[in-house]
Parts: sequence; C-alpha cells; structure tokens
Amino acid sequence: MRIVVLTGGVGGARFLLGVRAYARAVGAEVTAVVNVGDDLRLHGLRVCPDLDSVMYTLGGGADPERGWGRVDESWTVKAELAAYGAEPSWFGLGDRDLATHLVRTTMLDAGYPLHQVTEALATRWQPGVRLLPATDDRLETHAITDLDGARRAIHFQEWWVRHRAQLPTHQFVFVGADTAEPAPGVTEAIGAADVLLVAPSNPVVSIAPILAVPGLREAVTDGPARVVGVSPIIGGAPVRGMADRCLAVVGVECSAAGVGGLYGSRATGGLLDGWLVAEEDAETLVPDVTVRAVPLRMTDEAATAAMVRAAVELM
Ligand code: GDP
Ligand code: CA
Repeated sequence: MRIVVLTGGVGGARFLLGVRAYARAVGAEVTAVVNVGDDLRLHGLRVCPDLDSVMYTLGGGADPERGWGRVDESWTVKAELAAYGAEPSWFGLGDRDLATHLVRTTMLDAGYPLHQVTEALATRWQPGVRLLPATDDRLETHAITDLDGARRAIHFQEWWVRHRAQLPTHQFVFVGADTAEPAPGVTEAIGAADVLLVAPSNPVVSIAPILAVPGLREAVTDGPARVVGVSPIIGGAPVRGMADRCLAVVGVECSAAGVGGLYGSRATGGLLDGWLVAEEDAETLVPDVTVRAVPLRMTDEAATAAMVRAAVELM
C-alpha cells in the first residue's frame, strides 16, 4: 500500500509518527508532501520550519515540550545576535538548529533544489518516510493586515510569531504560487497513492499553500484511490495553536464541519472522500463526504496510529 500525507509542521509531524507506526505494521510506504509557505530567510539563512519540524520529530531530535526546534537546544547565537541589535529578534534560531540552516543554505546556494537538499538532510535523520517539499520554488504565505495605520502585507511568520495572529487581517496570499511547480516526485506520488491523508494541520496556512501550487490540487482530486482528511478542530477549537484566527480570516467556522466544508467533497470538485472527526463532533455532516468519529487526540504514538488506521479504513 502507498500512503501520501499532505502536512504542515508540528501537528502534521505528530500525525506522521502515527502514520509511520501504522505503515510499519501493515508494510506500507509513506510519502509526506510538506508545506513550504512558512519558509523564510533569516540572517542570510534559509529556514524551512515545517520541513524541519517533520524531520526532527520523525528523526527523534525534536523538542517534545515546544513541539518545534531541537531537543537540548542552546541559544548562544541568538543572544550574540541580540547584542548586535540584529533584526529580526522575534524569531528564535537555536544553536543546534542553525547547523541545519547552514547546510541547507550552502546546498541551495550551490544550486541544489530544495527536494534534493531535503533528501540530503534526511540522510542524517532517517525519518522513515519520504519527505518532499510541496515545491522547490519560492512560495511564501503573507498576511494582508492593518498595521500602523496602513494596509500591509507581512510574512506569515511575522504575523504568527511576532504579532501572535492578533492583527486585523483581510486575507492570506501565497506569493509565488502562480509560477511554482510541484517538486519532482510530488504529483507522481499523489497519483500512485492508494490513500491520501490530509493531516490534521492548519487548513488555511499549512494545507492551502500546498494546494496553491498549480497542478497539485488537480493531482489530489484526480489521482489517489481515496482521500481522507483528519480534523484539526475538536469541539469547536483547535487542539493547539491559533487555527481559529486563520479560519476567521477566510470566513470559515471553527468546527469540524466548517473545515470539512472548506475542503469539500471530491464528488463535487473538492478534496475529500472521507472526513475523520472527534467523538465530540460525531454529528458533523459534510455533503457527499463519508464522516466517521473516533478519538482524535494525538496523545501518544499508539493513539495516533489508531487514528491513522481509522482514516485508512474509513471507506
Ligand atoms: P504548524 O505548521 O506547526 O502550525 O502545524 P500544523 O499546521 O501541521 O498543525 C497544527 C494543527 O494541529 C492545529 O490546528 C491543531 O489543532 C492540530 N492538532 C494539534 N494536536 C492535535 C491533536 O492531538 N489532534 C488533532 N485532531 N489535531 C491536533
Ligand atoms: Ca507551519
């Protein structure tokens, strides 16, 4: 069996731990197509927060408390940058984490595309699933906000980390999406999938930027035998993070039904054949989508693997 997962960072990474456990049990092969809309250049370095969250988590090197970055991290370089007054100061890059960005940036500057760089970094971490960036091209999520009395576009990370998603916001735009192409292997993997899982990642700023790459949405609607999504919203609230703020920007109710409706049915040009929701949300209806309710909290790897099994066997 071939499984493809569309995923963001921290939430998606935890989900992938369960996908990998399930895949090992049944002998399946897993490809993760990872959001790059959060990527940014900081202090001359290319940082890929979602790819790194997934790589560190699956490789056993992530900080379990924070959910992002490296375990046993130190912050000497951050303090030294602050002593110079170097901006931005609101985004923390740990010392261990910096090595990843140094290697990545050196390889990118030498001309290697992001998917090859990702593969090279994964040689160290052995994530046990194939990691592919959604695209090798620049695709950056920006928020159109009201800031200092003017309408401004700011990078998603500045909106999320610096302003804690609190600014009046009109929309998100995916800069570069018009001309981006799926990274090599992405549409092929999606087309060959027996089941494509949409991780319980942020639908607006983790999954939508993946689908904004021209051709990628079509690959999902036309390719895999089955597409099943997992709700990041339980009982009307995100389990963790500020997905409610992102959903409000795009005018979608923060509920399992709201996100299911946003994704829509494959029968009518949307994404989903099946939608896995929490037991609290068992009443959820999404037109032309098979909905099933199971425990949906990723408390440990076994609980998450059980969720994945329910998603794969949903229909
Ligand atoms: P990010 O890129 O680091 O923001 O992470 P993702 O977009 O991949 O995942 C964030 C989403 O994961 C949030 O909207 C959370 O609601 C969701 N999430 C986190 N933990 C859980 C959980 O245990 N169960 C479910 N169903 N969703 C979760
Ligand atoms: Ca992210």
